[in-house]
Amino acid sequence: MFEIKAYECEHCGKISRHKSSIKRHEKRCYHNEETRSCITCWKLEAGKCELCKEKLRTGCPDWESLQEAIDAQEWTTPAR
Ligand SMILES: [Zn+2]
Repeated sequence: MFEIKAYECEHCGKISRHKSSIKRHEKRCYHNEETRSCITCWKLEAGKCELCKEKLRTGCPDWESLQEAIDAQEWTTPAR
């Protein structure tokens, strides 16, 4: 049996043995706010975005942080 070292994406938890592939992944991870994807935008859950009704996007010009809305208590995640 061998023990292995692995790397985990700090945004979504994806795991890889290769540091470079996780580094590359984090830059385009949908759960990374820096990619400005629909997943981290409050408008997706609120159904207030015309753009992401068609297709989820990254680098969205209309992106607004879901986390910031939660922190400001302007938004509560609906119960699932
Ligand atoms: Zn990720």
